[in-house]
Amino acid sequence: MNKLLMHTCCGPCSIYCVKKLKELGYEFELLWYNINIHPYIEYVMRRDTLINLYKDTDVHVNVLDVYGLVEYLRNVVNKESERCEYCYTARLRKTAEYAKKNGFTSFTTTLLISPYQNHELLKKIGQDIAKEYGLEFVYIDFREGFKEGQITARELGLYMQKYCGCIYSEQERYLKKKI
Ligand code: SF4
Repeated sequence: MNKLLMHTCCGPCSIYCVKKLKELGYEFELLWYNINIHPYIEYVMRRDTLINLYKDTDVHVNVLDVYGLVEYLRNVVNKESERCEYCYTARLRKTAEYAKKNGFTSFTTTLLISPYQNHELLKKIGQDIAKEYGLEFVYIDFREGFKEGQITARELGLYMQKYCGCIYSEQERYLKKKI
């Protein structure tokens, strides 16, 4: 049976993606694995918002609870402007690994809902990793539902993050200056 694993970056972004996968008839589960979210309190807020959102529902959330500040920084220092490539690769590779180990046949990511992410790069990395693991990378352009998902998240009173995840994006958000 085909079963899809959706890497999930946070609760708000998951709302529309989950709705869409259900509409399309997928059997799926979610995976929390985000070594790029810092500092720790922010990581916990996003993780727990996601877990609580699906607590009493039919959507299963798998949690790889790794606060990856050290690992993340070791991989991006001195090449900060290329950090998103590492960030996408690390998270999608772990998703593929988890999918393979646990009987899923395909994977995707909620990152595809964000108009701020690099879709072409995500797609390429997803497809390359899928090939390596003998899985399918399901590319769905979820961006049409970005606003709807954000509105629903606000109505539900979910914690809404103010920046992408890493400390560099936090600096960019508040100093309004690209690194
Ligand atoms: S800006 Fe976002 S996608 Fe890029 S490295 Fe930071 S957390 Fe990852």
